[in-house]
Amino acid sequence: MQIATQAAQIGLDRASRTGAVTVPIYQTATFRHPGLGQSTGYDYSRSGNPTREALEEGLARLEGGCRGFAFSSGMAAITTLLLLFKQGDHIIVTEDLYGGSYRLFEKIFQRFGLTFSYVDTSDTEEVARAIRPETAALFVESLTNPLLKIADVAALASLCQKRGILSIVDNTFLTPYLLRPLDLGADIALYSGSKYLAGHNDTICGLVAVKDAELAERVYFHQNGGGAVLGPQDSFLTIRGMKTLSVRLDRQQENAHAIAHFLVNHPKVARVYYPGLPEHPGHDLMKRISRGFGAMIAFEVTEPELVERLLLKTELISFAESLGGVESLITFPQVQTHADIEPEKQERLGINNVLLRLSVGIEDKDDLIADLAKALE
Ligand SMILES: *Cc1c(COP(=O)(O)O)cnc(C)c1O
Repeated sequence: MQIATQAAQIGLDRASRTGAVTVPIYQTATFRHPGLGQSTGYDYSRSGNPTREALEEGLARLEGGCRGFAFSSGMAAITTLLLLFKQGDHIIVTEDLYGGSYRLFEKIFQRFGLTFSYVDTSDTEEVARAIRPETAALFVESLTNPLLKIADVAALASLCQKRGILSIVDNTFLTPYLLRPLDLGADIALYSGSKYLAGHNDTICGLVAVKDAELAERVYFHQNGGGAVLGPQDSFLTIRGMKTLSVRLDRQQENAHAIAHFLVNHPKVARVYYPGLPEHPGHDLMKRISRGFGAMIAFEVTEPELVERLLLKTELISFAESLGGVESLITFPQVQTHADIEPEKQERLGINNVLLRLSVGIEDKDDLIADLAKALE
C-alpha cells in the first residue's frame, strides 16, 4: 500500500466497537485490571497507552519497520537511543549536525563515557575510515541541516552491517514519504516529529521506527525505563498531522522548487543550497534514493546587512526556529539553531553571517516569492 494511503488512515480501527473513524484520546494514567494477574494489555500509560500505540503502529507501517516508538520530543528520542550504549562506546556522527544533537552528545553524553567523531557522512569513504574497534553506532542525518548534504543511506547501512555497527538515521528533513531508511538497510529511523510529521508547528514530539524485533525490545525497555513518552493529546495531534503528510509535502516541495529558482536568479542572493538544483552536489544521489528533494532551502545573501532585513521585513514568512510545518519560517542558523557549534567549525561547515535557512510551507508560492522580493528590495 502507498504511504499516502497508510498515512491518511493512521489510527482507524475497523474493529472499534463505536465505529469511530479517528482514534480517541485515552487521557488516562492507569488502567483497571480485570483480575489478579490479569491485564487488558494496558497497565499504566508510561508503559503503553492506546492513543500513543495507534501512532506507534502507524509509524511502523509507514516505515516498513516491526515497531514504532513515540517520545516527548526529538531530543528525548535521541536521548533514549543513546541509553542503548555503554561507557567506552564510540559513535560516528554527521558533522553538519542539528545543533541540539551536537549539544546532547558533547555536553551531556560525553560525561558518561561515550565518545563521538564527527565526519562528512555524505562521503561514505570518510565514514569507513572513522570506524574503530570500539565503534558501536553511526548516527547520520539523511539530509543535513542547514546545508542540505545528502548521505548515501544505502551504502552507509551496508557498511555498518558488514562491520557490526548499529545504523541510526535522523530522517527528519525527508520523512518516510520521501525516503525510508529501513528499506535501505538501516536499523533505526529517527524523527523530530515536531517538524514535517506533526507538520503544523503546534506539537513537540519524537518518533523512532525499528527494523528488527530484538532491537525493538531493547528500545522499548529504555523507552519505558527512561520514561520520556509522548502524552495522549500530543499523540493524537501527531496522528492528525501525519494523515496529511503526502499532500503537505507535495505542495511544500512544489513551492520550494519555485522559491529556489527565484533565489538563484536574484542579484542580492550569492548562493543557494537546495538539492533540487542540478548543480547541488547531492542532486543525482537524491534522485536515486529519495522520492523528492524536500522543502528546505539555505541561501547566502550578498551582504550581512540583508540578513536582518530578511528576518524582520518578511511579513508572511515568520522569523522563527523549527521547520516542516504548514507555515513558512525563516531562520539565521549561526545565531539561532547552530550557536552551540564552535565558530571555527561553523566557518568550515559554511555556517556564516550571511546564511539563512528557509522552511517552505504550504502557502501560495507567488505570495511567498512576493514576500521575499519585497524584503530584498
Ligand atoms: C528539531 C530536530 C531535532 C530535535 O527534535 P525536537 O523535537 O526539537 O526535540 C533533531 N534532529 C533534527 C534534524 C531536527 O531538525
